[in-house]
Amino acid sequence: MPKPLTSVAEHQATVSGLVGLMPVRATPIAECLGLVLAEDLVAPIPLPPFDNSAMDGYAVRAADVVAVPVVLPVAQDIPAGKTDVAPLEAGTAHRIMTGAPLPAGSDAVVQVEHTDGGTDLVELRFSVPAGTNVRRAADDVALGATVLRAGRVLGPAQLALAGALGFGELPVRRRPRVLVLSTGSELVGPGEPLLPGQIYESNGLMLAAGVREAGGEAELLRFVPDDVEAFHAAIEPHLADVDLVLTSGGVSAGAYEVVKDAFTGRGVEFLKVAMQPGGPQGAGRYQGVAVATLPGNPVSAQVSFEVFVRPALLASMGFAVVERRSARARISTSITSPAGRTQFRRGAYDAESGEVVTPVGGPGSHLLSALAIANCLIEVPEATTELAAGDLVTIRYLD
Ligand code: AMP
Ligand code: MG
Repeated sequence: MPKPLTSVAEHQATVSGLVGLMPVRATPIAECLGLVLAEDLVAPIPLPPFDNSAMDGYAVRAADVVAVPVVLPVAQDIPAGKTDVAPLEAGTAHRIMTGAPLPAGSDAVVQVEHTDGGTDLVELRFSVPAGTNVRRAADDVALGATVLRAGRVLGPAQLALAGALGFGELPVRRRPRVLVLSTGSELVGPGEPLLPGQIYESNGLMLAAGVREAGGEAELLRFVPDDVEAFHAAIEPHLADVDLVLTSGGVSAGAYEVVKDAFTGRGVEFLKVAMQPGGPQGAGRYQGVAVATLPGNPVSAQVSFEVFVRPALLASMGFAVVERRSARARISTSITSPAGRTQFRRGAYDAESGEVVTPVGGPGSHLLSALAIANCLIEVPEATTELAAGDLVTIRYLD
């Protein structure tokens, strides 16, 4: 009796559970782009921190510029950054720049365009109600306000806010570290001649790039031969430093399945998932480290990464949303799909031509060129065996 197939959802949960949550670290703010805030951020100062001018102009008492034009002596110059600003005496003006602290005693700023721009004496040509061109302390952020909630993804604007509040570090979950291994004695590197039977390695590049794109750190070993001893020798020195060992190749039904041979009986379980491509999978813990083994065919490896590994990496960093954006689209041609398996076809989706998705490259899992022009995966449910042109399908955007 063959083992029953494991569902896609079940294997997703297994891989995510193995990777788990990364620890929270106080991280230099410049390294936090794209990471997830792990705790609420509370303002340690108000913003702005002090009353300041919204314009280049003259700080005055509104009461001194009711009848205009009026000429006042300029008592002080206040550039931005001046920290010892003298109070404003009645009947005088201070020349002030945008962002500079408003002197005590002043309650309005006349913008420079409404004056003659004088430096000893200034003619003020328009009256200003109190408060004009003044940015009050705390009018943006109150002291003690919660400005960002835990779970917020840190983009440029969130980093700017945290920086303006004086944070040098932020509490974020660290990036997962992934050891990416390509197995296969047929694999050679760029610049090497291609002997008959050899191919240039590509999965490792793809998977390491996928790890980095998801926010993780990748250590890449591209040429691990189909030899159990060599495989162990390759991974052993890295085990202490990584959160996940991610392999490709060597897990199907043939002989010389190095990953299977190296991990069987050592904490990693090999199984068949009800999907196509990417049926043969393995997952577990080897010497305490999470392991996910992906099949070697490039399309299978890519789809497996998308479906199992990427969501696990995102979840480990604290992302609440780990799935790709999805949408419904009409398929441009008829396709078939095996019963009892979720099929993932590569698709080219074009919103401009009316929300139509075109399968590219057919179901073959060695078709790398189609993968490179696809911008989505078409997800055909287990129970669906045929789709006609014009039928609605679910797509997952890859970009
Ligand atoms: P395997 O799962 O090891 O039997 O590999 C299945 C197919 O994928 C074979 O045609 C391999 O040559 C190919 N393959 C495996 N690993 C890689 C890789 N890292 N880069 C490109 N092709 C690969
Ligand atoms: Mg192989």
